[in-house]
Amino acid sequence: MPELDQAPARICPNCDGFPAVAITLGGRNRHGHLRTVVAHCPACHGTGTQPLAASVREVARV
Ligand SMILES: [Zn+2]
Repeated sequence: MPELDQAPARICPNCDGFPAVAITLGGRNRHGHLRTVVAHCPACHGTGTQPLAASVREVARV
């Protein structure tokens, strides 16, 4: 069985690996595009992964 060279990334449990979303503000700009803002996950700061130290702390709590 092949072994992986690297451990798989630890996915952020708060956003499930989808760290940024576009939220519509309503209406359209003069080019006809939806007006949006991007919101990042506050737990992982938009990376989508969980730092190793946080993973260890979570496992230790269980
Ligand atoms: Zn996240």
